[in-house]
Amino acid sequence: MKQIDHRKLGKKLGIFHISEKVGIGLPLWLPKGAIIRKLLMDYLENEQRVAGYDFVATPHLGRLELYKKSGHWDTYRKNMYQPIEIDKEKYILKPMNCPHHIAIYESSVRSYRDLPFRLAEYGTVYRYEQTGELMGLTRTRGFTIDDAHIFLAEDELESELKNVLLLTKKVFAKFDFYDFKVRVGLRGESEKYVGSDESWSKAEKAIKNVMQKSDLKFTEEKSEAAFYGPKLDFLVKDNLGREWQLGTIQVDYNLPERFDLKYTASDGKKQRPVMIHRAPFGSLERFIAILLEHFQGKLPVWLAPVQIAIIPVSEKFESDTKKLANELKPARVVVMNENNTVGKRVLNAKKQMIPYILVYGEKEKISGKFSLAGDKEMKNLTAKQIVEIMIKIIK
Ligand SMILES: [Zn+2]
Repeated sequence: MKQIDHRKLGKKLGIFHISEKVGIGLPLWLPKGAIIRKLLMDYLENEQRVAGYDFVATPHLGRLELYKKSGHWDTYRKNMYQPIEIDKEKYILKPMNCPHHIAIYESSVRSYRDLPFRLAEYGTVYRYEQTGELMGLTRTRGFTIDDAHIFLAEDELESELKNVLLLTKKVFAKFDFYDFKVRVGLRGESEKYVGSDESWSKAEKAIKNVMQKSDLKFTEEKSEAAFYGPKLDFLVKDNLGREWQLGTIQVDYNLPERFDLKYTASDGKKQRPVMIHRAPFGSLERFIAILLEHFQGKLPVWLAPVQIAIIPVSEKFESDTKKLANELKPARVVVMNENNTVGKRVLNAKKQMIPYILVYGEKEKISGKFSLAGDKEMKNLTAKQIVEIMIKIIK
């Protein structure tokens, strides 16, 4: 089968739109795309709540001073937008969420009992990418990271890395992504890396240990670390064979040092926490691009923006089908009553990759029983049975 790239699929299925009026590299989510986004966020939020994460929300701007302190301004400036002056104070559109989460950590005295302290947020960030590099949803100038920062005691590092790795693997399995590459990104020779040699070697050792104990194959690559620490990246290929980074897990001794973060240990002494930055999807934009390509637009039923297309065989059944659509909630249903033949509407529903089609005529009206045509046909179902089936799929 010919593989279609996500930009074409996104247009055909009404997922996203890029408007030059708004700006290139700034995708707009159409209603169907917004549903997919919300479903992904809800899914991962549930997984994270179970895994002990707390959700927070932070603004899109922060003071320039904050990014000077974090080191982003010195090491990452070419990807950041110019400061915005507000009341003689300079502010930056945030390129990363870490400094904001650090400020939340600092908002209270922390003890060893609070650790690991896991803060999650779907945080939208803005980074400069060259015009020629921009591509659909895979490379944009604004995107939302399924971000989290975990503050922990050093002796918790390996066990927490293992937890994060398990979560990431679980997320990839949920979407049938098995063909991925795991890369351990180590420090290179450049001067961009901050922090002491000692903390770098501890962080690199922890990541390597966890990977050696896991069942995943991985490669070690120099110069692929973040400027503040080594990382684990999950890479997948798009349909054109280009490799993209999705999930990422990063160990960081440096930011806790720069911000002088502390917690009170069990012996009452002040200790420095270590941080993990991690995002299983990477970003919602890129993840959805890869999902669209991976499934060629035919998303799993739980993730399909429209799950059932009801097609009345004639105008006579319009009000009945609208009533039925209501009864089938929480399934996502549309009534396709355009002015053309049933055959054409069925074809249209298939083109839109709607997983189930329900044709409604006299027989259905009298019997109150329906057939769902999809990958496999389900016959003689009442509305209540369809709802039960869909709830099972959604969960
Ligand atoms: Zn971060």
